[in-house]
Amino acid sequence: MLYGKWRPRSFDEVVGQDHVVQTLRNALATGQVAHAYLFAGPRGTGKTTTARILARALNCEELKAGDPCNRCPSCRAILEGRALDLIEMDAASNRGIDDIRELRDKIAYSPSDLRCKVYLLDEVHMLTQGAFNALLKTLEEPPPHAFFILATTELHQVPATIVSRCQRFDFHRVPNEAIVARLRYIADQEGFALSDQGLLAIAIQSRGGLRDAITLLEQVTARFGPTPSTDEVLEALGMVYDPRAEELACAVLDRDLAKALTLSRDAAASGLDLAAFTREVIDLLRDGLWRAAGGGEGEPRSMAVADRARSAEGGLPFLAHAVAELARADFRLDPASPVPLEVAVASAILGPAAAAVAPAAAAAAAPTPARQSAPPSRAPRAGGAGQAETSREERFLRELRQRCSMVNVKLGALLNGSCEVLAMDGDELELGFYHSFHMENVERDGRAIVEEQASNILGRPVRLKVRQIPRQNAPDRRPRGGHLIDAALRHGATPVRKEGS
Ligand SMILES: [Zn+2]
Repeated sequence: MLYGKWRPRSFDEVVGQDHVVQTLRNALATGQVAHAYLFAGPRGTGKTTTARILARALNCEELKAGDPCNRCPSCRAILEGRALDLIEMDAASNRGIDDIRELRDKIAYSPSDLRCKVYLLDEVHMLTQGAFNALLKTLEEPPPHAFFILATTELHQVPATIVSRCQRFDFHRVPNEAIVARLRYIADQEGFALSDQGLLAIAIQSRGGLRDAITLLEQVTARFGPTPSTDEVLEALGMVYDPRAEELACAVLDRDLAKALTLSRDAAASGLDLAAFTREVIDLLRDGLWRAAGGGEGEPRSMAVADRARSAEGGLPFLAHAVAELARADFRLDPASPVPLEVAVASAILGPAAAAVAPAAAAAAAPTPARQSAPPSRAPRAGGAGQAETSREERFLRELRQRCSMVNVKLGALLNGSCEVLAMDGDELELGFYHSFHMENVERDGRAIVEEQASNILGRPVRLKVRQIPRQNAPDRRPRGGHLIDAALRHGATPVRKEGS
């Protein structure tokens, strides 16, 4: 196992937790070590590794500036897994009061082969209430030779009484750059050759967990050999997106127009599926918006994006605007053209101020021949023939249908050519359906999805309202028609390729 082989053996080698190791080193050097520590943080960020280094340091006969020597008999015994006085317990499988009582009964005995007994309780939040109570008593009066290191990924599930008895350290997600640097080091030592992009993809996929990153590196090289190409890395990771999606999302949030346009062009030039790429950028921004709004349990899709979103100049309105602008990019009639993405990115960065006038004007008058600020490329180009401008409602409905199809194919079909937008301003989206069957199905099974996707497109929360309307009375909102593709689009067709290609 690569991870076991490259597990840090000294505080120096622990990646991305400088605040923890510095404090521990100082405590060890000055002999002011606490009897109970609580290590909290996401999985794979080095809690157990740091605990074992601390266990060695507490027992080391030749401690050097707070670091264990890893050579004395105590260090060797722990490194080789044969030290009787390092007691590691997984609270997930030993969670009952009896397990903790057994621990309590034995803790009073002097250590047998080390200087002190070190109890490492992993996933401590899994203990039962009775076990916590028993543990609390032990933590209140530990014998001088006993030390506790409790570790948890779910700090909020650990009782406050326990937390208050411990010195707590919060382990952070490891930044992508630090993971890449560590992976680069391991790869060099192992004779692997991977591109920076490949290593970054692994780092992104591991979401700040170094252990997961190293495991992924191992999986990739096990499958494709020691010199996998970037594409092979992405394939092994099952990643449908390119790391540039994260860079582009960051560039948008940084309002770095030059960088964002360069990334958009690069993505197009390298033959990516631009629609999928754009969806990934949107999903990253959506997640950022969600985090910035105070939502989102668990791990963000990207720490870099989440951090930027939280501190973005312009706050939530800017984030919502950016998501909405990206969501407008339409690639269906010209999948290889970078123009829709470039326009969307520029509109997102230039900010609500630049686009503020246009939506209000558009809302006042539907049908809308063309939004004042809408660049011409937003309208689908039908191979140069009969360039038809679609109404804002139609564009919205098409986008909505496309997005809903991705979540639920049946829902996409129900929205296909059987309804139209009656109202989409304010906090209500009213859809008129020609058939009660379609309406009832959307209402019953699709409301949440429609509301979520519509909110994403519009950049504000909307509630769905439905009404049945007669088809023949449906107003033709189109300024002009007649072209075959227009007619097909109006009836819900999705073009599969560019005309003439
Ligand atoms: Zn030692």
